[in-house]
Amino acid sequence: MRISSTAFAPHQSTRVNAELELLDNGVVRLWIADKVQQQVSCKEIAISSSVGQLPTRFQFADGWVVVVETEPALRHWLKQHQNRSIVVWLEAHKSAWFASLLLILFCGWVTYAFVIPWSAEKIANTLPQRWLEPIGASVLTQLDDTYFEPTRLTQAKQQQILQRVAAILPMLSQPVPSLTLHFRHSELGANAFALPGGHIVLLDDLVTLMNNRAQLESVILHEMGHVYHRHMTSAVIERSIWAVAISLIVGDGSTVADLLTGTAVLLFQNSQSREAEYEADRYAWRAMHEVHGSVEPMAQMFERLHRHSTMELPVWLSSHPDMNERIRLARAFDAKDQ
Ligand SMILES: [Zn+2]
Repeated sequence: MRISSTAFAPHQSTRVNAELELLDNGVVRLWIADKVQQQVSCKEIAISSSVGQLPTRFQFADGWVVVVETEPALRHWLKQHQNRSIVVWLEAHKSAWFASLLLILFCGWVTYAFVIPWSAEKIANTLPQRWLEPIGASVLTQLDDTYFEPTRLTQAKQQQILQRVAAILPMLSQPVPSLTLHFRHSELGANAFALPGGHIVLLDDLVTLMNNRAQLESVILHEMGHVYHRHMTSAVIERSIWAVAISLIVGDGSTVADLLTGTAVLLFQNSQSREAEYEADRYAWRAMHEVHGSVEPMAQMFERLHRHSTMELPVWLSSHPDMNERIRLARAFDAKDQ
């Protein structure tokens, strides 16, 4: 088969008329001015993929480039001799497209569900503690503007809790590097939050709901578990990775800062992940044993919260359908120890 074509000499932009002869044994002859300019095996030529109606480009090792129309006969010859590229192969195999799509979706899911959370946790654990404290303080400032009011607890009550927490800290085998308790009033009901850098917020309703000191301490110890494992920091980093990635894809760099700022507050609106809750619980079980010799007050605390939440259904607690499981596990920890 001989095809009329346009050829470009090495390092020259002037075009010359040429003919390309394609032999059945895969050899390609380049004819210029009725003379064979060169004859090589097609394996030594870089041949562009013949996608759609685009012309096919032959680039010889010495720099000659030949461009020809992709006619059916050429397509047939290429099919027999060319090392077919993945694009051509995929074009011919629609099911491969589908498999590729599934593979891409799967990789996306693995990245979303495992790679980014894992990376965020690693980053969170390598950040120096002195960086986390101001981050937590700034998150608290934002929350104060949005959700919190000054506490209505008496000074005496606050002092009593602070002194008690100071007393139990030396009893823990897994101490947190820094801890600052904040008391706040809020419409959010009976809840507590662990912010980056060891800032723990106790809402008034939670303090008054607890029956006794040990129940309140179990809540504080659970929050200390979040601090110990840097859950909020990991979550902020994880969201930030997504925020930056999305703003880069969207192409608006100026929104990165806004997204980062909004991330912490956004996070606050969602409860911690299930895994984080269980990890903080495990920390608290151990600490409760060290301080009180039993996890039972923690199980009772969950029961009180559960009863309270089914009465008033605050968003935070209604998102914890596994409360019964947490109560069961706390009691199982005690049973195992006896
Ligand atoms: Zn928690």
